[in-house]
Amino acid sequence: MRQFTVEKTASRGIAAAPAYLYQEPDLSAETDCITEEQEENEILLFEKAKISVSDELNLLAEKNDIFAAHLEIAEDFTLSEGVLSRIRNEHKNVQLALQETVEELALIFDSMEDAYMKERAADIRDVGKRFMAQLKGTQRPDLAEISQEVIVVAKDLFPSDTVKMNPKYIKGIITEEGGITSHVSIIARSMGIPALVGVGKLLDSLQNGIEVCMDAENGVICIEPDHDILREFQEKQEQFEKRQAYLEELRNQPAVTRDGKKISLCANVGNLEDIERALPMNLDGIGLFRSELLYMENDHFPSEEEQFQVYKAAAELCPQELTIRTLDIGGDKELTYFDFDKEENPFLGWRAIRISLDMKDVFKAQLRAILRASAFGHVRIMFPMIISLEELRAAEELTTQCMEELEQEGMDFDRNIEIGMMIETPASVMLAEEFAKEVDFFSIGTNDLTQYLLAVDRGNRKVADRYSYFHPAVVKAIAAVIAAGHQEGIKVGMCGEMAGDPNATLLLLDLGLDEFSMSAGNLDYIREKILSL
Ligand code: PEP
Ligand code: MG
Repeated sequence: MRQFTVEKTASRGIAAAPAYLYQEPDLSAETDCITEEQEENEILLFEKAKISVSDELNLLAEKNDIFAAHLEIAEDFTLSEGVLSRIRNEHKNVQLALQETVEELALIFDSMEDAYMKERAADIRDVGKRFMAQLKGTQRPDLAEISQEVIVVAKDLFPSDTVKMNPKYIKGIITEEGGITSHVSIIARSMGIPALVGVGKLLDSLQNGIEVCMDAENGVICIEPDHDILREFQEKQEQFEKRQAYLEELRNQPAVTRDGKKISLCANVGNLEDIERALPMNLDGIGLFRSELLYMENDHFPSEEEQFQVYKAAAELCPQELTIRTLDIGGDKELTYFDFDKEENPFLGWRAIRISLDMKDVFKAQLRAILRASAFGHVRIMFPMIISLEELRAAEELTTQCMEELEQEGMDFDRNIEIGMMIETPASVMLAEEFAKEVDFFSIGTNDLTQYLLAVDRGNRKVADRYSYFHPAVVKAIAAVIAAGHQEGIKVGMCGEMAGDPNATLLLLDLGLDEFSMSAGNLDYIREKILSL
């Protein structure tokens, strides 16, 4: 028996089943060079593979959006150009040309700091494998064919492997590599399959069929458990499943405290898929739509029309409140198509509203798109990182300008759209009373507020033990902001991680917080807590 703990829980749950070792066939390229006469044939092979891959992905895209994204990658001009130029100019055979092009593209995403963008490299490599399997005439193992209960153990799983898995048989997933923001993790969460990722070397010491237990609540893996340990895991699993069923039942109830206060429970999202995943949780709305993902996933600043389509779809999906935060870029979030000068202190530098106010055309395109979408639902605008009344007024003035323009153009929008701001800087806390007179709502961003109040970098492991939203300074700030908001009769919400922490719920209710907005995965637990208090 071997038992160890790991750090990255990608999807909660407990499982015990025999291991299924997922081993990929060799999909590395042959490295021969080709003669000029062979070039056309190699190009033809690529074009044929591209047709087959597109056909495969077209079919899969009907069932899952991930494959629509893969189809775009497969048909992208950059990929084809990279392969063809390596065949023509460097006389590489098609396999080598493909392998190098895919790696070059994937590395661009690998080098990004943002965890979400980094994981997009996996999608590019996934598409690369699909091409390579076509070129080599080999089949990748198909997890859809598994028909008995197993825990899948793999070096890494690609989105297209995971999406076909049947949760009836796949009881758990363990990967040596990968992060919690990867598609594999996202899919595992949406299917309710417990998953531990990035656990380090494991495959070499396992055989197919060996009994494995995993506790993805506490990050524990046990190989070949003895009888007692196995029983222990099985009991924990039963308890977990009962609790999940109970939490699902609770979803039918609105979040009301025992003394009758209705609390608004909302989700934080980054795109339409997140909204779709959050909706079954019985939401009161979207408390934070992080619009920057739309900018980060693109290769250009998304136009007004491109943004409008997304915001409109979001408003229609979620007819309750939809709070769209304007662009919060800079700090640790960069764009591939825009050069940010290196800064000594990026978190104290040119980010969020500062960029928007300096790049008025970009800002106006977004404001117009949000306003137009407001004709299709209950849309709210929220400004990030505000530190002064001047900034807030400048942003509001631009919004008014956009409204006047739309009016003249005969475009429809909600003339009474609510405009709010994030409270995530110490300055906004100190001026909360003044701000409360000029906005329709506050949303406290404890992720940044904690780092700025305590002067502790939110992403620096070395000071992670000093980063706490339970620090009395943060708690006093939250109390003051809620009081200031209520004094002026506006609602105060929270969209930082603290809102999704059940250990903070009692405190936040006591301070009078009106709205809790969090990742969809935490909603059940916070609802349960609110109902009990
Ligand atoms: C926050 O700072 O608390 C917040 C919600 O914004 P982000 O995490 O996107 O900076
Ligand atoms: Mg923030």
